[in-house]
Parts: sequence; structure tokens; C-alpha cells
Amino acid sequence: MRLSCEIIRDLLPLYYDKVCSKESSSLIEEHLADCPQCVDELQKLKMDFQNPTITDGKVKLMENISEKWKRDKRVSFTKGFMLVSALGAMLCFIAFNVIGAEVLPDGTLVEPFALIPIGYIFILMFIISLICNFVFLKKYKIKIK
Ligand SMILES: [Zn+2]
Repeated sequence: MRLSCEIIRDLLPLYYDKVCSKESSSLIEEHLADCPQCVDELQKLKMDFQNPTITDGKVKLMENISEKWKRDKRVSFTKGFMLVSALGAMLCFIAFNVIGAEVLPDGTLVEPFALIPIGYIFILMFIISLICNFVFLKKYKIKIK
């Protein structure tokens, strides 16, 4: 049975994906054996699948998505950092006040001194992450335009 090229070309994607019946594929193979145009068509199909043509628009979109994702990741990371450092600083100063200072009988002052520089380090971390957060958000807004 000789099928028209048009029917064969409709079936080629199915044939390429190996989802058509055995009968259909043998008919297609039969047709391809003596129809170079349809062989070309099959080659084109293979090329399309192997190298999907990505338009500039799609590339831009993917780049934007990936950029946005990276930025969101950075922003949430800095937010988490801000939260942790703010909590850390608060805990240090609260602990310092709760523990309090004590003068031993021999006159030495016992104070949880270490908590003060640690608290200030947390404040510094908070400020740095605040700045980073602003920078990342600003970059984001510029890109959106
Ligand atoms: Zn043909």
C-alpha cells in the first residue's frame, strides 16, 4: 500500500517517538525507502529534537528566572542572617543584664564581659546583612524595568 507523503509526514513524529503501531512504522519505513523528501523531513525532525531552537526571548526569560531565583536566594539568606544576628545581639545584651556583675570577696569583678563584644559583633553582622539586603533588592528593581 502506497501512502501519500502528507499522511507519512503526519505520522513521522509518532514514528520518531516510536509510539505508532508496528504496522504503521513498517508502512512508514516502506515509504521512506523510496521517498527522499520524507527522509529529509524525518532528518529535520531529528534535528529539531536534538537541538531545540531556543529563541532569544526564551533565553532572556530563562536568564531572568535564574537571575530572580539567585537574587531571591540571596535576599532570603540575608534576611535570615539579619534575623539571626538581631536575635543574637539581643540575647547577648539580655544575658549580660540577667547574669549581672558580682564582686568577689577578694575584690575581683566578675562580669560576663565576653557578651559585650559578641553582642557588638552581632550588631555589626546585622548592619552588614541589612546593607547587603538593600543592595540585592536595588539590583532586582533595576533589572525589572
Ligand atoms: Zn514521501
